[in-house]
Amino acid sequence: MHFSGFRVLKEALSGHKGWKPLWRDPQPQPAYDIVIVGGGGHGLATAFYLAKTFKQSRIAVLEKGWLGSGNIGRNTTIIRSNYLLPGNEPFYEFSMKLWEGLEQETNFNSMVSQRGIINLFHSDAQGHAFRRRANAMMLAGADARLLDRDALRGMLPYLNYDNARFPIRGGLMQPRGGTARHDGVAWGYARGADRHGVDVIQNCEVTGFRIDGGAVRGVETTRGYIGAGKVGVAVAGASGRVMAMAGLRLPIESHVLQAFVSEGLKPVIDNVVTYGAGHFYISQSDKGGLVFGGDLDGYNSYAQRGNLPVVEDVLEGGMSLMPMIGRARLLRSWGGIMDMSMDGSPIIDRTPVEGLYFNGGWCYGGFKATPASGFAFAHLLATGRPHETATAYRLDRFARGYPIDERGAGAQPNLH
Ligand SMILES: Cc1cc2nc3c(=O)[nH]c(=O)nc-3n(C[C@H](O)[C@H](O)[C@H](O)COP(=O)(O)OP(=O)(O)OC[C@H]3O[C@@H](n4cnc5c(N)ncnc54)[C@H](O)[C@@H]3O)c2cc1C
Repeated sequence: MHFSGFRVLKEALSGHKGWKPLWRDPQPQPAYDIVIVGGGGHGLATAFYLAKTFKQSRIAVLEKGWLGSGNIGRNTTIIRSNYLLPGNEPFYEFSMKLWEGLEQETNFNSMVSQRGIINLFHSDAQGHAFRRRANAMMLAGADARLLDRDALRGMLPYLNYDNARFPIRGGLMQPRGGTARHDGVAWGYARGADRHGVDVIQNCEVTGFRIDGGAVRGVETTRGYIGAGKVGVAVAGASGRVMAMAGLRLPIESHVLQAFVSEGLKPVIDNVVTYGAGHFYISQSDKGGLVFGGDLDGYNSYAQRGNLPVVEDVLEGGMSLMPMIGRARLLRSWGGIMDMSMDGSPIIDRTPVEGLYFNGGWCYGGFKATPASGFAFAHLLATGRPHETATAYRLDRFARGYPIDERGAGAQPNLH
């Protein structure tokens, strides 16, 4: 079924009886050419591009729970390509370009909203660093604007300009950055993959790999053995646990990250805003809730919920940046498991096991990467070669001494 304005009108006039489920509920087949483990954003996007762009067939996505139950449905929905390093910026700008055509490509309203992201700075040194970043972004074809304090006052009048502990000096804006409805992205890719013949199988947990002569032959699952020519793993926070089943130890730690949403308010925050003197980022959803977050909880965890000290820390950050937030009531908070790599950058690569490929290490920036990650992983699975924007995301870069340390924090996953 193709979605269109005409279709909405037709259904409205005929009692909405013609809508169909967005994807099938297929039984697992005994074998596939390509099995993707993990039905999050990255796994579903990979399957979509494998089938649509790279014309592969006999593909399955195996998801242990329901689609959207992982980080794809838990993030704060921010998309941007304001990176600095050559290994990263072209990849994230490629992702931004894919976001810009996503709804047409998947024929699904994922509510991509290019409302602009503004990173505030609070010192001359930070301002100089942002100027350098803006130049790096523009060299990679991205958009960037530096805003002074007066311009910010006009755009973001609700910030604390007059008696802040860390006065706002200016901001780096990426006008094309913004938000997208996170679960709508998963549904759009799932529906698109299904329409191209991919079996999207929920409630099917991978419990082991069958490896023979150094090559993967298939996966053990809670719904039986499934043979596979190639297996691509994209399980985000479960990366360490799943790859351990294939005997591989990853340069990744799992940590919990929380997010928050307030009660619905009238429109007040037009853009995405990030605080430069603390870890705090905020936008307003189309339903009116203020959606915000901050730092990791700081300890290793596989729990999808966090603890109160970080709640306090995030709310303190919000209060010091925009005191008016203290008048809003908090509606919900939740957590997700982050696959934190040692340098804060992702991995899209083959593994020492023939036919087994890995995609992970997205830290808390993997939502914006969803389209490019899926495209690059599909490119690798289909052609055997890394996509041109993802050549630096090698699994062995730590051993070779080529980390991509965007934040300059060293091999400290909880600091990236
Ligand atoms: C609170 C929070 C805020 C965030 N904010 C942002 C943001 O604003 N911008 C941004 O860019 N990024 C953000 N992120 C990060 C982003 O959400 C993740 O990096 C990204 O979603 C990870 O990729 P994914 O969608 O494929 O992961 P997931 O949705 O977690 O997908 C992995 C899937 O694998 C499945 N799985 C695990 N083990 C198995 C198994 N054995 N068998 C089968 N399936 C399995 C899981 O059930 C899950 O559905 C945030 C994350 C969180 C938690």
